[in-house]
Amino acid sequence: MQISFEPVGILHSPYKQKFAIPRQPRLIPQARAWLALADHVNHPDTLRGIEDFSHLWLVFAFHETMEKGWSNLVRPPRLGGNAKKGVFATRATFRPNAIGMSAVELIGIKKKGNRWGLELAGIDLLDQTPILDIKPYLPYSDSIEQAAGGFADARPETEMTVEFSEQAQQFCLQQSQNYPQLMAFITQVLKQDPRPAYKKKREGEQTYGMSLYEFNIQWRVNAQHHFVEEIR
Ligand code: SAH
Repeated sequence: MQISFEPVGILHSPYKQKFAIPRQPRLIPQARAWLALADHVNHPDTLRGIEDFSHLWLVFAFHETMEKGWSNLVRPPRLGGNAKKGVFATRATFRPNAIGMSAVELIGIKKKGNRWGLELAGIDLLDQTPILDIKPYLPYSDSIEQAAGGFADARPETEMTVEFSEQAQQFCLQQSQNYPQLMAFITQVLKQDPRPAYKKKREGEQTYGMSLYEFNIQWRVNAQHHFVEEIR
């Protein structure tokens, strides 16, 4: 059986590349995005009552990587990239059906021009991700207090500190009209340490770059410290 879906929306996210996206939703509350409804559902009736929910489930396609296939076993980053787990025992993006799901915060309904949409926060999705479905998050049923979390039982904690150069601070100040949360957002992204596991083990200073919104951010890492050198 083949099943095909037409996306109900496209997500407009500050994450322009996979690198630096947190591994799960809500780890970075400042990560805001706008979900634009597709033409066939672009009507306020499809959203009626949604503002009464604080959180939503997004079901989406891992569109950027879906062509790359999948394997039975994956190496979760959580386990330092060493141990292997079955694909269905992980939230890996490389799956037989490249479908992801994220519980995100609903800020509110937001229309731009004649396009209805939703303002969201705490997202872990790439820019332009096709959204297959939107459902309200139901705390009484979706939250299971005694659930066992396997190899990912607790929220990942990192001890990274973040410092901004004079240029980087000035840059964030200049953008504060359009992006009032920019500095807090960059800080949160770096605090969760986006580096791949094998690089975290490396000694000495390393230089990295990432794209958030239309900005390019360059930083240096030494031990547990990120120094944001330049933002362009
Ligand atoms: N919460 C989801 C996603 C977990 S994987 C789930 O459990 O199903 C999270 C990773 O997915 C992010 O680190 C990011 O690199 C990747 N990702 C997000 N959107 C993507 C997309 N559209 N295509 C491919 N990978 C994506």
